[in-house]
Amino acid sequence: MEKYDLVVRGKMVREDQVTLGQIGVKDGKIAVIESPDAVLVADKVLDFANAYVFPGTIDVHVHCFSNPNEGFIPTSMSAAAGGITTFLDMPYDLPNPISNVEIFEKKVKQLEQEAVVDICLWGTISKTNGTDQIVPLAEAGAVAFKMSTFETDAYRFPRIPDPEIIKAMELIKETGLRAAFHSENDEIIVDMIEEYKQANKVYPKAHNETRPPVTETSAVLKLMEFAYWTGVKLHIVHVSHPRTIDLINAFKAQGVQVTSETCYPYLLLDVNALDQFGPKAKNNPPLREPEEVAGLWKHLQDGNIELISSDHAPWGAEHKNPGNDNIFKAASGLPGVEIMTPLMFAATVAKGTMTPVQFAKVMAQHPAEVFQIPGKGKIAVGYDADFAVIDPDQTWVIDETRFRSHSKMSPFHGQEVKGKVIQTIVRGTTVYDGEEVTVEPGFGSFVPGSAYKGAAVGGRNH
Ligand SMILES: [Zn+2]
Repeated sequence: MEKYDLVVRGKMVREDQVTLGQIGVKDGKIAVIESPDAVLVADKVLDFANAYVFPGTIDVHVHCFSNPNEGFIPTSMSAAAGGITTFLDMPYDLPNPISNVEIFEKKVKQLEQEAVVDICLWGTISKTNGTDQIVPLAEAGAVAFKMSTFETDAYRFPRIPDPEIIKAMELIKETGLRAAFHSENDEIIVDMIEEYKQANKVYPKAHNETRPPVTETSAVLKLMEFAYWTGVKLHIVHVSHPRTIDLINAFKAQGVQVTSETCYPYLLLDVNALDQFGPKAKNNPPLREPEEVAGLWKHLQDGNIELISSDHAPWGAEHKNPGNDNIFKAASGLPGVEIMTPLMFAATVAKGTMTPVQFAKVMAQHPAEVFQIPGKGKIAVGYDADFAVIDPDQTWVIDETRFRSHSKMSPFHGQEVKGKVIQTIVRGTTVYDGEEVTVEPGFGSFVPGSAYKGAAVGGRNH
C-alpha cells in the first residue's frame, strides 16, 4: 500500500465542489484525493474536521522592498500567517527597481535564503531605453511585467511614456507573459494636487478628491486600446471603480485579453475611512464613495473581476504620519498580507454572499491562471500541496501591533473577524500552525514565470 508523507482531512474546497475528504500528499504534491472513509497510510495526519481546506491564497500584488526596513522575511512570515502560500513580489524596490537581469538574479538568490512561502518575481522597465531587458528578464523567470502611467518616483516607479509602452507591449507579447499597469492619469492628478495645495486643502479626503474616477478610467481606456493594437495580454492592477470594469468588459467583448484585480480595501472600506483613519486609509487609487464600492462588489459577484490582491505596502509610522496634517505628505499603501484572506472570507463566505468555491477562484485559482503559474491554485491531483485552512467558527480581533510585517498601521485594527486561518501549508509542510510561523527563512522557493529558460541561465528546477 502506498504510504503518504501527509494526509490532510477536512472540508476540501475543490474546483467545482466542497466535499469532506482526505488529501494524500507525497513529495510536496497532491497525490490522491479520497472520501472520508478511505484508508490512507501516512507519516503524519492533520485532521481539520469541519474547517475548510482551501487552496493556499496566491497574492499577486505585494511590495516587500518599497520600504527597505521590510524585505522578504517579515512580509513572507506575515503572508504565511495570513493563509498566503505564494505571492508575486512587485519590482519597485528601493534602491533599485528590478529592471535588468543582474538585479533580478540577485533578488532570486536573496529570496531563496529568506522566503518563508513561495514567491514569484515581477520585472519592470526603466522609464526610457529599457525595453531591451524584457526578453532576458522573462527568460530569467520574471512572472510578468509591471509598469505605470503615474509617476511615483522617476527612477524607482516611473511613468512610462506612450512610445515606450507600445514597444514594451510588443516585446512582452512575444514572451507570452502579461503586461500589468498601475493605471492613473498622471497629468490630471498632478495638476489637481497642485491646485489643492495652493488652496491649502490638505485634509484627508483631499486625497480622494484629487484622484477622481476619470483619472483611473481614462488611463485604463488608453492601455486597452494599446493592447488591442499590440495583442499583448493586459492586466489592470488595483481597480478601485466599477466604471473601470464596465470598460474592461467592453474591450473583452472585442477580444482584447484583459484581466483585472481589485484589492481588499476597495471592497471593505469607502472614502469615509479617510476621515476616520487619515493616512492609515491612504492608498492609490484612493478609496471611493459607498455606492461605487457597491458597484465593485456587484462586478465581483458577477465574475467580472478575476482576482483579489492585497497591494501590501509595508510603510511604517514614519512614512504614514510624517508629523503634520498634510495628507499629500503621507505614503500611499496599506499592509495586507496577514489579514486579507480572513477579512475577505468574513465578508463573503461567512456572510453567504459568495460560495467557498467562488472564494477559492478569486483568491487562488484565477491568480494562478492569469499569471500562468503551473501546479498551483487548485486542490487537484498533481498540484502543489498548498493549503489555507480556515475555521469558519472561530472569531478573532485584528491587532496591528502583532503584525509580522514592519508596517503596523491598519484601518482594520480592532475589527472582529469571523473565520480564522488555523494552518497554512506550503508543498506539504506546515509554515504556520495557527499561532506561530513554523519554518525558517529559506524554506520558501522561487517560482519562475512561464517564459523561464532554466537550463540557459543556471538550472533551477521547480
Ligand atoms: Zn502596488
